[in-house]
Amino acid sequence: MSASELPSSAKIVIVGGGIVGSSVAYHLGAIGQTDVLLIERNKLTSGSTWHAAGLVGQLRSSANITQLLGYSVALYDRLEAETGQATGWKRNGGLRLACNSERWTEVKRQATTARSFGLDMQLLSAKEAQDLWPLMQVDDVVGAAFLPTDGQASPSDIAAALAKGARRKGVTIREGVAIVGVEVENGAVRAVVTSVGRVACEKLVICAGQWSRAVGKLAGVDVPLTSIRHQYIVTEAVAGVTSGLPTLRDPDRLTYWKEEVGGLVMGGYEPNPKPWAADPLPEDFEFQLLQPDWDHFEPIMELALGRVPALREVGVRQMINGPESFTPDGNFILGEASEARNIFVGAGFNAFGIASGGGAGMALAEWVVKGAPPFDLWPVDIRRFGRNHLDPDWVRSRTLEAYSKHYTMAWPAEEYRSGRPLRRSPLYDRLSAAGAVFGEKLGWERANWFAENGEAAEDRYTYERPNWFGAVAREHRAARQTAALFDQTSFAKFRLSGPDAEAVLSQIAANDVRKFDGAIIYTQMLNDGGGIEADLTVVRHAKDSFTIVTGTGFATHDYHWVRSSIPRGVHASLFDVTSQNAVLVIMGPNARDILQSLTRDDISNAAFPFATARDLIIAGAPALALRITYVGELGYELHVPVEFAASLYDAIQAAGAPHGLRLAGYRAIETLRLEKGYRAWGAEIGPDHSPLVAGLGRFVKLKTDLPFRGRAALEAQRAAPLPRLLTGFMAASDVILLGRETIFRNGERVGWLASGGYGHTVCKAIGYGYVRRAAGVDAEFVMSGDYTLEVAGEHVPAEPFLKPLYAGLRLKA
Ligand SMILES: Cc1cc2nc3c(=O)[nH]c(=O)nc-3n(C[C@H](O)[C@H](O)[C@H](O)COP(=O)(O)OP(=O)(O)OC[C@H]3O[C@@H](n4cnc5c(N)ncnc54)[C@H](O)[C@@H]3O)c2cc1C
Repeated sequence: MSASELPSSAKIVIVGGGIVGSSVAYHLGAIGQTDVLLIERNKLTSGSTWHAAGLVGQLRSSANITQLLGYSVALYDRLEAETGQATGWKRNGGLRLACNSERWTEVKRQATTARSFGLDMQLLSAKEAQDLWPLMQVDDVVGAAFLPTDGQASPSDIAAALAKGARRKGVTIREGVAIVGVEVENGAVRAVVTSVGRVACEKLVICAGQWSRAVGKLAGVDVPLTSIRHQYIVTEAVAGVTSGLPTLRDPDRLTYWKEEVGGLVMGGYEPNPKPWAADPLPEDFEFQLLQPDWDHFEPIMELALGRVPALREVGVRQMINGPESFTPDGNFILGEASEARNIFVGAGFNAFGIASGGGAGMALAEWVVKGAPPFDLWPVDIRRFGRNHLDPDWVRSRTLEAYSKHYTMAWPAEEYRSGRPLRRSPLYDRLSAAGAVFGEKLGWERANWFAENGEAAEDRYTYERPNWFGAVAREHRAARQTAALFDQTSFAKFRLSGPDAEAVLSQIAANDVRKFDGAIIYTQMLNDGGGIEADLTVVRHAKDSFTIVTGTGFATHDYHWVRSSIPRGVHASLFDVTSQNAVLVIMGPNARDILQSLTRDDISNAAFPFATARDLIIAGAPALALRITYVGELGYELHVPVEFAASLYDAIQAAGAPHGLRLAGYRAIETLRLEKGYRAWGAEIGPDHSPLVAGLGRFVKLKTDLPFRGRAALEAQRAAPLPRLLTGFMAASDVILLGRETIFRNGERVGWLASGGYGHTVCKAIGYGYVRRAAGVDAEFVMSGDYTLEVAGEHVPAEPFLKPLYAGLRLKA
């Protein structure tokens, strides 16, 4: 390839010709983008794609990611006919086995989830599963799930078909061209430098598989992934293996299977995975494999032989040991990088890149062209990562853990263990000594609950009532009846300042921020479709100065949203001040008495009303105090410089003791907010849902004539019947709701729960989900139905509600 064969400019440059880059190219072509150049350093498919096993499963724990994988299946159905390129695609269905009662619960819940998401997953007995897969022994099988629409493909052929389709649609593909540099100007990509010349571009899409971290680095973009060795064997022909044999996943034996030319492919996820190569990864790794590592594979082989005894009798034709990129949470990485404008990433496919390739390429192509994905893709959004992901060693240890858990039980509320503790509040040691059991978010250690009276300070996971249930009840009651102290230092905090700060915020906040100085404004920020991109608290210090507080996990996302909403030339600056202040939160009917005993400032209701912020001196600490609540009680959020945190904590503990103050953690916050009906972004609300369908219309300034982003979409939505409405459901106290349970109204499926839990004041299971109907939904429709929830295949009665279950009557005036 010479420089003359490379265009000097292209509107969009894609780096990487595996299945993902090819799919992005195909879909860009499909939406009429032809000024597109795909460059591949070696040959198309020569990275991870050519040696994939080719299983295509669809079910994920998010409805929208499942929808993406379903899109892949629909695309693969037609791709061969469309392009004339064989794809090896067949819809032979997928089986998943359960070999103990807890796994069976998990599989039954997955089947419910699948049905919620519109997939017909059937539950089978061991015998019925064996009828579909006669070679396996099923003595240890409790049951199985079967998804008839799953399938398998020939990975290179699918990718080749996508590349062929892309070329036909006018996309230029060049092999033998490597990206070696990226020019970024004024925070946006301007050109790529390749091994044979410079190409000016408006947008760059990084689909370089496990090399994406290195390519991202050229532009200052962090792509947190690790390359891990993954192995499978291919056997000689096996008697009884037919071409219609479904794929098989046997998670309790850590293995998967599929048919291949009359033989079997069998691979697995070792509990002790091995990373591949240190930085940098070799660049000339083209159609290559790693040395088979039989010792490492032996335990997997043993487990597999127990399932398919015939494996003893057949020869192994080949052992594939291939490197593939994995991520710290097992989900792939999609979207626009927060570090630079117009640089997009599609990488880190965790050994399901063939299954995801079609859908991920479609979504990323739309994201690149329109600046937004077709629907909410938060679970895979690159902005879910944070500062803890900058260290490749931290990423590697967490990713190895995620890999090792690929087939282990996915327990409710399960936490990772690796790379901890990393980010600690100044109160960490004190909380730890008080019995805190920590969880982790974006590297932050956060107390989930506190063990007392000889309780073991550890999570014991189960699908039944967990061991922390009683402790959380205790903390919950303290918040409702006396007072509870939470350490919420990990909150993401931003400062927006400058003469245009109010104007900028006014344009992106759905609520009115032109209030008096000292006001707290709870607001959403909307996309053009009226969907909720951020849900946060704004403190107005002055017209030119605001503090923004949002959830720990949304630090990168929300910062990016606000910052990219500041037009060039406007005088407003955004700073991340998360690490400046610790946040101590006192909630409960006695909160005021406790706080008043520590300050000379008057904090009576008249002097310090709800939804206001004040600078107070509390026990020697200068605090920005917010009178606000996420649990439905009288309470205060105290933001203090980190060096004051420990002293303030000690003072609050001492002053609180006679008032029944108790330490409380994040799991108590969850049960409290479920009762109170406060929405959580990423659960009940997100980019697919407007404030109107989420029951948050009262926080939107539609009554004013102020313009704001998303306003037109909300006005249009308001003029028509709502397509869905967020509804609360209450079920008997022994029902365990976790989210994703199907909602039936008068016997008809109308949605699924976005979240689920338990309310310790109302003593009921609580869940929230959207009730959907094409003809429209209103409060009367919601409240007039008879409801059941499908929980692990069983129907349980449920009561709908639209007003908070817990009214917070104890809120002191
Ligand atoms: C053993 C094994 C079994 C698997 N089984 C399955 C399965 O059953 N089902 C499934 O869905 N998935 C499976 N996978 C995963 C699947 O193979 C990957 O997720 C998928 O191929 C990733 O595609 P990609 O396009 O992201 O990366 P790749 O195919 O690796 O493509 C990236 C491309 O970028 C190019 N590149 C890198 N750096 C540069 C540069 N600087 N300039 C230009 N080009 C560059 C590389 O040469 C490469 O061709 C398996 C993977 C392995 C290893």
